[in-house]
Amino acid sequence: MRFIDLRSDTVTRPTAGMRQAMAQAEVGDDVYGEDPTVNRLQEMAAERLGKEAALFVASGTMGNLVAILAHGGRGDELILGDRSHTFLYEGGGSAGLAGIHACTLPNLPDGTLALDAIEEAIRPSDVHAPRTRLLTLESTHNRCAGRALTPEYCDAAGELAHAHGISVHLDGARLFNASIALDVPPSRLTQGVDSVMVCLSKGLGAPVGSLLCGTRDFVRRARRMRKLVGGGMRQAGILAAAGIYALEHHVDRLAEDHANARRLAEGIGSLPGLVRGAEEDLGRLPETNLVYFKVDGASLGDPTLDAAVLSQRLRARGVLANPLGRRLDQMRMVTHLDVSPEDIEETLVALRSSLEET
Ligand SMILES: *Cc1c(COP(=O)(O)O)cnc(C)c1O
Repeated sequence: MRFIDLRSDTVTRPTAGMRQAMAQAEVGDDVYGEDPTVNRLQEMAAERLGKEAALFVASGTMGNLVAILAHGGRGDELILGDRSHTFLYEGGGSAGLAGIHACTLPNLPDGTLALDAIEEAIRPSDVHAPRTRLLTLESTHNRCAGRALTPEYCDAAGELAHAHGISVHLDGARLFNASIALDVPPSRLTQGVDSVMVCLSKGLGAPVGSLLCGTRDFVRRARRMRKLVGGGMRQAGILAAAGIYALEHHVDRLAEDHANARRLAEGIGSLPGLVRGAEEDLGRLPETNLVYFKVDGASLGDPTLDAAVLSQRLRARGVLANPLGRRLDQMRMVTHLDVSPEDIEETLVALRSSLEET
């Protein structure tokens, strides 16, 4: 059975063209800085993201961790959103491995942190307090329905942080989705921040890899930290070739994923028992490729129908999607390279019949 896999955009598989690029990649030992394909990918990423240099890392989690390690030290404090990926889903690495204390602020439904809340959270210079060292933003914001931060917001947050001597890191796992949705070059979105991490292995369709970009000096420190966490790779050009292919062929097409997500959300909006949108932003159509919706079995007269039950029923119909939330009342569907407009129509048919099953 072929599944329509909407669990994440990480499930994409390398295309034939990408595999060919990987097979033909020139390689060397990247710990010695001698892999020409890795070097080319890093130069390309730095240029696209408007930074001096870039570092190829194994995953988004590693990129964010290495950034935190390179920006701060033990006992420092990091300000980040309470729904941010780094806070929720990266194993507590900032505390566990970097020794950096997290100060969380509420993420607003659009993925931002209120500027006055950031300003208030910045610690005074006092022997009692940890030193605020870093602010992390996320765009598109995963748990905030894939919303994209505007360049104006990133600039304003950057200005505020810099006025207090604090650096800004952008978790841009899906920054290219933000760039396509806002129709603004990625380098504009990163103008106000000091470092940015982008994933190649999500909507861009590469099998492995992320890039961490910043100043030359920052990337030099990040390279040391990458080695420290065991992330120095050798003939990684085979993987970097997939990344180059992804940047060359799979960025503009993200618009198709966004159109598919919108179509899916529109369909979901017309199904009884489902309410589209993320928890605090119900009703809204997606801006990018993440489709969140609420499952309200009670409104159909079946309180046992939660997101977990719906997920099982969908699986039996060839559609994979993850239930979410402590009360299992939410679901997320993610569109990507391996999901076609026809798959969206099939998903809507499967949703309708799953809701009608008793
Ligand atoms: C997926 C993701 C990451 C981490 O990427 P991995 O490659 O899965 O480690 C970081 N931040 C955000 C916002 C993500 O969606």
